[in-house]
Amino acid sequence: MKILERKISVKSKQCYDCKSTLKVTYELTELEQYGIKNNVSYYAPLLNCTKCNTAYLAPENDEIQHEATCYAFGVLNAREIKDIRLSIPWGSNNRDFSLILEFGSATVSRYESFKSIPSKTHNNILLGIKGDEFRKNVIEKGDGYKEYLKRQKKRQYSSNIVNFPKTQSFRKKLFPELSKNNLIEINLSNAEAFKSSTFESEKVMVQ
Ligand SMILES: [Zn+2]
Repeated sequence: MKILERKISVKSKQCYDCKSTLKVTYELTELEQYGIKNNVSYYAPLLNCTKCNTAYLAPENDEIQHEATCYAFGVLNAREIKDIRLSIPWGSNNRDFSLILEFGSATVSRYESFKSIPSKTHNNILLGIKGDEFRKNVIEKGDGYKEYLKRQKKRQYSSNIVNFPKTQSFRKKLFPELSKNNLIEINLSNAEAFKSSTFESEKVMVQ
């Protein structure tokens, strides 16, 4: 039997009933997961109240149980996936990252939030992109990456649009016809025109 040695740290909590501080203990627990060939045990974090003589499973159990499952299947765990993602130039956002790898938009987020474990194929791709060759010659030549570049262009364009929080006077003067919206989107070139217009400059606030 394999044992995952890591003992996950647990945020201190109060007992729901008596409000005294709960004590953390770890119980070696065998993973119950369908389809696992090798038995794996891990340290389940428990929160104990000595006054009420009760124990709760700590919420951090989700993470460590997931890690043990990944260990049992021989695939990357949540922390390892996140580390790889953040080491890649286009990995700052897990949705973009998923789409570039052509995994489906929420897939990596599910891996990182302990909701599912990577398939062998996904695992191999995630391991592969750590190497420059595979990343540059395969992934960055694929449709997912091309789509990502297109979206980046669009994002750049829309970041040229500035939101103007409007004071009442500003709004009434410039846009008497707009009474409901709190924000108007104005193109940058218009913003320049406003600044050099007869309106006082402090009334044009660029966020
Ligand atoms: Zn208690």
